[in-house]
Amino acid sequence: MVKPKKHLGQHFLTDQHSAERTAQLINKCNTTNVLEIGPGKGILTKFLLKQPNKIIHAIEIDLESATFLQDQNLLQKPFLMEGDFLNLNLTQLFKGEFILIGNYPYNISSQIIFKMLEHRSSIPLMAGMFQKEVAQRIASLHGNKTYGILSVLVQAFYEVKIEFKLSPGAFFPPPKVDSAVICCQRRVNYTLPCSETLFFDVVKTAFNQRRKTMLNSLAKFNLKEAFLKHPFAKLRPETLSVNQFVELTQFIEKQR
Ligand code: SAM
Repeated sequence: MVKPKKHLGQHFLTDQHSAERTAQLINKCNTTNVLEIGPGKGILTKFLLKQPNKIIHAIEIDLESATFLQDQNLLQKPFLMEGDFLNLNLTQLFKGEFILIGNYPYNISSQIIFKMLEHRSSIPLMAGMFQKEVAQRIASLHGNKTYGILSVLVQAFYEVKIEFKLSPGAFFPPPKVDSAVICCQRRVNYTLPCSETLFFDVVKTAFNQRRKTMLNSLAKFNLKEAFLKHPFAKLRPETLSVNQFVELTQFIEKQR
């Protein structure tokens, strides 16, 4: 028995069909190594292990769940690691590329996404379950209220698709929110035609003051006179597409 622990975001999936559908997403790319974050009692792991030509690794922070997985003979060390994904040294673990998957602990969703972005050159595919609102933010297009930092940064490098939605009844204990499974496939050309460090800075700075116009929110970049006449100066960040953020980054680079 594994007692669900709220502080670890433990809402165990009970719907077998959704677990199978989610696990099958790893076949969208032919990378062999797969890392599951938070296998819990292993409902998703069980289906991941059935997919052909894949090697499943998992990291679980909860010792009780990790013991359960080993007792059930689902996963053993070293493929099962006990610890915090956020502290995991991914570069040391995998020499090449790997797929990221999970029914993610909702309390650290954004941190998982940022870690994925940091390792984008090694992660061709990321799929799994998020709180529905987070999934919508990741997939949102410019012009929408939910469009923000996560949307621009993930979509700059990945093609995002919401695969299906799940109601709280698909989990035990049921969460207070709806969930959605997303699939992010890295773009073929995923390097940006601008400084990527500056791009991250521009996007984060613009959205940190999302009610201001770009002219005001980007003041720290000292854009001088030239930006006054720029077509984006009077706009708010949610109206700019990913490509326009790239264009803006190129413009800022030229001013330096
Ligand atoms: N995959 C299981 C399922 O679908 O039923 C469990 C999903 S549950 C929403 C999230 C899981 O992530 C829990 O098992 C929890 O212990 C684990 N977890 C939470 N924070 C973690 C972290 N920082 N690193 C690794 N695992 C974590």
